[in-house]
Amino acid sequence: MQVPLLDLKEQNDALRPEIDAAIARVLDTNAYILGPEVSALEEELAVYCETKHAIGCASGSDALLLAMMALDVGPGDEVITTPYSFFATVSAITRLGAVPVFVDIRPDTFNIDVAQIEARITERTKAIQPVHLFGQCAEMAELQKISEKHGVPLVEDAAQAIGAKEDGKLAGAMSDVGCFSFYPSKNLGGMGDGGFMTTNSDELADKLRALRVHGSKERYYHKWVGLNSRLDGFQGAILRVKLPRLEGWSEARAFNAGRYREILGDAMISDQLILPVEREDVRHIYNQFVVRVPGRRDELRAFLSSNEIGTDIYYPVPLHLQECFAYLGYKAGDLPVAELAARETLALPVFPELRMLQLEYVTEKLIEFFKGEL
Ligand SMILES: *Cc1c(COP(=O)(O)O)cnc(C)c1O
Repeated sequence: MQVPLLDLKEQNDALRPEIDAAIARVLDTNAYILGPEVSALEEELAVYCETKHAIGCASGSDALLLAMMALDVGPGDEVITTPYSFFATVSAITRLGAVPVFVDIRPDTFNIDVAQIEARITERTKAIQPVHLFGQCAEMAELQKISEKHGVPLVEDAAQAIGAKEDGKLAGAMSDVGCFSFYPSKNLGGMGDGGFMTTNSDELADKLRALRVHGSKERYYHKWVGLNSRLDGFQGAILRVKLPRLEGWSEARAFNAGRYREILGDAMISDQLILPVEREDVRHIYNQFVVRVPGRRDELRAFLSSNEIGTDIYYPVPLHLQECFAYLGYKAGDLPVAELAARETLALPVFPELRMLQLEYVTEKLIEFFKGEL
């Protein structure tokens, strides 16, 4: 049996007639950049995320960059963030000449360790940017308290967390700006690059809308130096087909995660294979189902691969140890929890269309591996 880490074909094939019609609508109107489909999608996203505004842009990476620009992050400023995330979390900061200040993660959720943040706040701290890694919110209630106490804005990297909740509140609705991605592997994936930002501030929304079109509100009059970062009409139309299905897909992911838990929880291998930890009062949307494998991660990955089971490592190198950030002066050992996670984590297939027989095959092979019945 073959079990890919992610299979987009089935999802897209099932929607093919609607997607064809959506593409035809764009061709009929010739609105290829922003336009009515994108505006309609933005309204639907604002409803979904329960925010006042949702603003499309060219990628999740740009959403983060635009958020930092909107908050006037610039040379010499510091932004507190996590070292255990996708690269764009940090490049959004460094591209503006600002300095990422890394705070280590919690060993259970892999999200930023909120208890360590306050000690790192200085008069140069311009923003705090948590990441809701793998689909589970960072501790936003605590982060909001810190943000208010110190008067430092919050930006959520919610690229993996559309629809995730903490205490009933949605990812992207718990900060100054929420940043999302439509990269095809996200829970709501486009057919190309795309992203969006959420905010409840009219002022920030206004600025973000201008920044995505070279900083102009009125064509050819530039208040700021912005980017060319717009969502295209095809993505807007296609994503409007997909958005009504998002809840069902995220439910299916959570269901699959639950099945892994039931089967593997009974298998007496919990000291060798640590399953994802859900905090209380959260809705985890399982963009990834990431387990921890102390000592034998790479061996397990090779074994699963030899059995045609797809896995991946998010992320093999923590951001503070990336070659391009050597100038920041971090060294191995500085952020031990993130460094250990980079050595131990493995993502297993959890996508919505995963068949129960496939999932059971994965668990069978995991049990075989850990019980030494090879
Ligand atoms: C995917 C992702 C991004 C970047 O999104 P793109 O649309 O690929 O630019 C940023 N942060 C995190 C945590 C992500 O997973």
